[in-house]
Amino acid sequence: MKLLTATSRTQGQRDNDFNFCVEGELVIVAPLVCDADAEDPDGGCGCGRSFGGLNSGKGTTTALVSDLDFTPDDAALAIRSALEQSSFIQFMRPEDVDDVIADTLELADGFDVGTVVEQRLGHIQARD
Ligand SMILES: [Zn+2]
Repeated sequence: MKLLTATSRTQGQRDNDFNFCVEGELVIVAPLVCDADAEDPDGGCGCGRSFGGLNSGKGTTTALVSDLDFTPDDAALAIRSALEQSSFIQFMRPEDVDDVIADTLELADGFDVGTVVEQRLGHIQARD
C-alpha cells in the first residue's frame, strides 16, 4: 500500500526546510500544532509544516510517497505503537489515536509513488 516515508529529496527547496528523520521511516502528520505555527505553517516552530517520523520521533518537511509491503492493519499497528510511545499520547484521547491512524492510511492517496510531498497545516501537496 502507499504510505509516506521520510526523505531528504527536495530539501532546501524552501528556506525553512529541515529533516531530522531517518531516511525511509514511516511518517505521520503530527496530531497537535502549537501556538507558534497554529495560523502559519512557516511560524517559528516547524510543527505546522513537518511530518513526524514514527521511529525517530523527529521531524521532516519532506516525505516520499512509497509503495510499502504493509497491509493497512500492519500500518495501523505501527502507527498506534509509535504514538503510544510518543510525547503526544498524554494529550490524546483513544479516538484521537484512531483518527490519526485513519488519516495516515489515506495521506498518500491521490499521489503517484515517487512523488515528494509537503504538508502545510495538514494539507498535503506535491512538490515540483
Ligand atoms: Zn510547534
